[in-house]
Amino acid sequence: MAESDRYLQSRAWFERAEAVIPGGVYGHQSPAMLTRGSYPFFITEAEGCRLRDPDGNEYIDFLCSYGPIVLGHRHPEVERAASAQRALTNAGNLPSTNIVELAERLTSMTPGADWAMFAKNGSDVCSWALAVARQATGRQTVAMVDGTYHGVHGWCNGVQRGFPDSDRASVAGFAWNDLAGLDGIFDRHDGDVAAVIVTPFRHEAFADQVMPASDFLGGVRERCTRHGAVMIVDDVRAGFRLHLGGSTQCWGVEPDVLCYSKALANGYALAAMLGRDELREAAGQVFVTGTFFTEAVPIAAALATLEVLEREDAPAELERIGRRFCDGLASAATGRGLAVTLSGPPSIPFMSFDADEGSFRRSRRFAGVAAESGVFLHPVHNWFVALAHDDATVDRALEICDGALAVVADEFGRG
Ligand code: PMP
Repeated sequence: MAESDRYLQSRAWFERAEAVIPGGVYGHQSPAMLTRGSYPFFITEAEGCRLRDPDGNEYIDFLCSYGPIVLGHRHPEVERAASAQRALTNAGNLPSTNIVELAERLTSMTPGADWAMFAKNGSDVCSWALAVARQATGRQTVAMVDGTYHGVHGWCNGVQRGFPDSDRASVAGFAWNDLAGLDGIFDRHDGDVAAVIVTPFRHEAFADQVMPASDFLGGVRERCTRHGAVMIVDDVRAGFRLHLGGSTQCWGVEPDVLCYSKALANGYALAAMLGRDELREAAGQVFVTGTFFTEAVPIAAALATLEVLEREDAPAELERIGRRFCDGLASAATGRGLAVTLSGPPSIPFMSFDADEGSFRRSRRFAGVAAESGVFLHPVHNWFVALAHDDATVDRALEICDGALAVVADEFGRG
């Protein structure tokens, strides 16, 4: 089908959007992030691991809403729990009692976590965690890995437009896997480092993913303990796909504060900050709140999601599915004479083309052809698998990806 026919409705909606929404579609969902002309602008329906756009085109989904969909879109158990709660109350004068059940469940699943508090987005809980650390320690400086995405608040906003420089005044950066760089921060800000915030692995857009060096997370833990700083793990993106007790458990590391969002409620808006007893008082003193932070429907969805994740031994199954997909991609690329790099854990994979040398030109073409052929990947951001990806669907997606690789080899040459 001609490209112009395939996305006719989508484009009409985008034109309407541009008139009334700055940018039409903004932020990480902006069309500028994808391959121009090869993707729809909107999604109208989703079920399991399949999506449909306004033109009725269908996709096998490997972006999973940028992470939240860990079971599958509209998972029946989650939808049942959410509907039952919706029939009772959602946003109330006071929280519903299920907030207690979710805090109990998360603390019992998570080594080192004695309390939990809830918000809506990853940005909320990452910023909240810094406030708790500063309140608990009476210190100001926070160390973060340069360029890490912790959300859109002023202290970490990567684009920086519209925020005063002062928002970043007490943030000090070091390089991923660079413990000597972190030591430098502890030296330069002697006695003033409130917290170190890290992700479990490096998963920035426009780059291959990088796993932690074997001593990195443990090294951060040891330094935080030695210097009296709070170790915060931002598990917003990876949470519940690698380990149900917090992703850094894979490296034997327990943070002081753990931040979750995305997959916690399988697509319902919810974020959680979990912490140690020593930080309980500070967490209660910091005043952070939001009209919708305690909504009961997402909390019911989270309880159901955690139930399924535990029952299905999700991290092992997600790794198996992801490995099937990654191995298939690697061998298809080899078959087409293309050198690719698959990076990150198999359940949160990413593939780049070595010959692109960071330009992502082949990646954009590859992902674009895949989208036009019915597989929704992302050219410059990591992908996600869900329990809804059965083997037959993964194999069908691999056939489509092989066709997209053939187009890349044909247009750009082998190599
Ligand atoms: N931290 C990480 C690691 C993330 O991946 C994200 C979202 N991509 C955030 C924080 C911010 O989360 P949110 O978009 O829900 O504010």
